[in-house]
Amino acid sequence: MITKAVFPGTFDPITNGHVDIIKRASDIFPKLMIAVSESVHKGSRFNLDERLAFVKMTFSDYENIEVLSFSGLLVDFCKKNNVKVLIRGLRDQADFAYETKLATMNQVLSNEVQTVYIQPDRLYAFLSSTLIREVADLGGDLTGLVPEIVNQSLKT
Ligand code: ADP
Repeated sequence: MITKAVFPGTFDPITNGHVDIIKRASDIFPKLMIAVSESVHKGSRFNLDERLAFVKMTFSDYENIEVLSFSGLLVDFCKKNNVKVLIRGLRDQADFAYETKLATMNQVLSNEVQTVYIQPDRLYAFLSSTLIREVADLGGDLTGLVPEIVNQSLKT
C-alpha cells in the first residue's frame, strides 16, 4: 500500500501554484514529504535556508507534511526515505514535454519510483517562480500569487 509521496522542487520561491499542488497531494497521500533542492538554477533569488523556511512556515499546520532539503539524485533520496511516488505539477504542454523526459530518466535510474502528475487550479496554471521573481524585481503586486511571507520578503 502506498503511504507516502515526495514533492521535489527548487521553490525559489514557493508560489501559490506549488501550494495548490501540495494541498491536493496531501489530500491523497497519508504522508507528503516536500523536498527542497539544495542546488538552484541561474538567477536564483533565495538561498536554501530561506527557501526551506518559506515552505516550512506555509505548511506548519499540516501534520502529514514534512519539509526537508535534498542534494544529489532524487531517486537516491527516494530509496533512502523508502518513497515510491514522486509528485510533479503539470501546468501546460511545455511542462508535459519537460516532465515526461525527467520522469523517463528517473524510471531508467530506478524502476521502483513512479511519477504522478497533478494539475493545479486553473488560477495558477500560468504561474512560475521565474515569473514571480521577474515581476517582483519590477515592483509588481504579487498578493494572492505567493504566500504572504514570501510577498513581504520579495518587497525587501
Ligand atoms: P524544479 O526546478 O524542480 O522544476 P520548481 O520549484 O520550479 O522546481 O517546480 C517544482 C514542481 O512544481 C514542478 O513539478 C513544477 O512543474 C511544479 N510547479 C511549479 N509551478 C507550478 C504551478 N503554478 N502550478 C502547478 N505546478 C507548478
